[in-house]
Amino acid sequence: MDINLYKYLKKTTAEGPGQRFCLWVQGCSRHCSGCFAKETWPHKPNKIMSTIDLFRLITAQKDIEGVTFLGGEPFEQAKALAELAKMVKNEGLSVLTFTGNRYEELKNAKNKDYDELLAQTDLLIDGGFEEDKFDLSRPWVGSKNQRYIFLTDRYNENEIKNYKNKIEVRIEKNGFVFINGMGDFNAIERDLCLQCPKNSL
Ligand code: SF4
Repeated sequence: MDINLYKYLKKTTAEGPGQRFCLWVQGCSRHCSGCFAKETWPHKPNKIMSTIDLFRLITAQKDIEGVTFLGGEPFEQAKALAELAKMVKNEGLSVLTFTGNRYEELKNAKNKDYDELLAQTDLLIDGGFEEDKFDLSRPWVGSKNQRYIFLTDRYNENEIKNYKNKIEVRIEKNGFVFINGMGDFNAIERDLCLQCPKNSL
């Protein structure tokens, strides 16, 4: 099966426990106010990769403990992600899935693709970003409504407390700056712009 990606990172320590392969899907219908990933909203073909090619790429990475799915909305491509998740879990890797939906909504939807992705997920972080509940005190999330749902015993509440929010900044070959992780992105953008030559004149 194919997955329509916005982007992937082979290694990051800012999107879940330990070092992880991270995969942002393209397409999200929720359009939460204050979302920092608006470029992932359109349901247009962006970077199409097969689950088997992604599996090979993921398992070629050394020293990763798992894979993180975020977006975009992973449950809008649940079937393909569940297939990929099953393959990587067979290799001993963990799966963390972010979703803008509430866990109860996913369970009550009686959608077998949703059920399959939930069955392959160790840690679900649910709830879209809510601007008026902005809170950076917990790892990997930006608002108070978001919850950690432990769907297996791979992770637990105590372990999560050992992590703090952080961001990673990458300057790519084309000069594009890619920031991931969780932080005050408005302040970061402001600070970066203050460093621009045009703003220092
Ligand atoms: S679900 Fe996530 S990607 Fe989609 S709009 Fe909300 S915060 Fe943005």
